[in-house]
Amino acid sequence: MTTTTKTMAEQVGELYRGAVFDTHIHFLRDAWDEIGTRSVFEKLDANGIERALVSSIPDDGTLMLHEVDPRRIVPFYMPYRTLADMDDWYEDDDILALMEERLDRGIHVGIGEFHLYDASNVFTPQFRRLLDLADERGLFLHSHSGSAEINAIYRLKPDAKLIWAHAGLVEPAWQVAETMERHPQLLADLSFRESSILSGRGLDPEWRALLIRFADRFLLGSDPYTVPRWRAFKDILDVNRYWLAQMPVEAADAIARGNAQRVF
Ligand SMILES: [Zn+2]
Repeated sequence: MTTTTKTMAEQVGELYRGAVFDTHIHFLRDAWDEIGTRSVFEKLDANGIERALVSSIPDDGTLMLHEVDPRRIVPFYMPYRTLADMDDWYEDDDILALMEERLDRGIHVGIGEFHLYDASNVFTPQFRRLLDLADERGLFLHSHSGSAEINAIYRLKPDAKLIWAHAGLVEPAWQVAETMERHPQLLADLSFRESSILSGRGLDPEWRALLIRFADRFLLGSDPYTVPRWRAFKDILDVNRYWLAQMPVEAADAIARGNAQRVF
């Protein structure tokens, strides 16, 4: 997202007005004091966000929000105690043990967002166990990774209930299309893809075609993983509402809310 885009959104003034199901929210420890649970819900209200998929470091942040409104907050288990765990979590027995213990509470409906840096990360005994746990309990997975890791997960679990965070983050439209085509059950959230989707004042033609083609499998997400991103929450949502307003209305409704509502 760029300031130019935001200015344009304001100039044009045309923003998608429908309700949103935000599928990429975090409530990390530093936001507990600096933003706070009450303000999180105020921001959801102010931005027309009906429901939200939430995960946090540590997991208590997610449970705090879930406790306030269990109908509105869809809790995912993020497998990190601190940010330092992100580096090698997929081969750490302690992290796996803690995950099992937390999942045993029966609150979470998914595991993630988690980060995979290489397809080989998927084949560790610990990650295989995670996949079994998700399978046994019918949990979703929310994977921040490239398409190679998505392919690897499906190799082990063809029926995985998988959400691809940021639709690959840096992968071009053709590669996202190829991956969506290969795995008909794959869902993908579009957080952090605003600068790919928008080109100047309009939609990038390749992305527009991609979003329309898979309009029943893309999800909206804001990803407030830092305090500054929580403070910029309205701007992030407005940029998304700006590009959604340029989509056919049925596709916009599905991506903004309908697909997530159907799945959760
Ligand atoms: Zn991410």
